[in-house]
Amino acid sequence: MVIGGGSAGLVTATIAAALRACVTLVEQHRLGGDCLNTGCVPSKALIRSARLLALIRRAPEFGLRSAIFVDPELARVGLNEQAAQAQGVPYELTRFELADLDRAIADGAIEGFVKVLTVPGRDRILGVTIVGAQAGELLAEYVLAMTHGIGLNQILGTVHGYPTLAEANKMAAGQWRRAHAPQAMLAWAERWHRWRRG
Ligand SMILES: Cc1cc2nc3c(=O)[nH]c(=O)nc-3n(C[C@H](O)[C@H](O)[C@H](O)COP(=O)(O)OP(=O)(O)OC[C@H]3O[C@@H](n4cnc5c(N)ncnc54)[C@H](O)[C@@H]3O)c2cc1C
Repeated sequence: MVIGGGSAGLVTATIAAALRACVTLVEQHRLGGDCLNTGCVPSKALIRSARLLALIRRAPEFGLRSAIFVDPELARVGLNEQAAQAQGVPYELTRFELADLDRAIADGAIEGFVKVLTVPGRDRILGVTIVGAQAGELLAEYVLAMTHGIGLNQILGTVHGYPTLAEANKMAAGQWRRAHAPQAMLAWAERWHRWRRG
């Protein structure tokens, strides 16, 4: 007979049963005792969460303006629309929906978007907000770009694996490029090809 189903009682009862003894375990409250229900596991979970929160508060040291590990994740670097408006910074907005990304569709993670603020008429990045699966990871490319003055044209010209979530960054850059396609030149090229076809 083992009285108490804490760490000690459970191990004692298990070993006794393994040795083919006839065992009765009596627990007055909850199996697992202090360790499972009050001490080791709950306190470690609290400590782990507190450490994670402390790490998130230091995000700017790692180049992240903010990253919130909810589901879906939210990550940001530089300005967002509200901050740009509050500071009177002119911007252009490019938004790419994850619902249009092959990998997100395959993973069933279509919730979210990549939003990029750029200097009007130029590809210089003022800020990026990403909502979606692995947003914190995806943001790293934009943090690198902003740190080293890399623009959307260069992101567009960089090979991104297919199908990956990281491709969302390239797609956003592509969306910006399409919005800035040289319309006069395209119209001229269309006329020229039409003339060539006769
Ligand atoms: C905050 C905290 C953090 C801790 N962290 C760690 C850690 O990280 N690592 C580590 O190794 N240890 C840790 N410990 C210590 C660990 O929890 C204990 O050493 C361990 O729980 C002791 O096990 P036990 O089975 O002897 O007693 P308990 O876990 O207390 O189990 C006794 C069981 O007996 C039952 N019982 C009592 N009287 C009766 C009765 N008359 N009839 C029937 N049932 C009865 C109780 O309900 C209880 O379930 C921690 C303790 C605390 C409080």
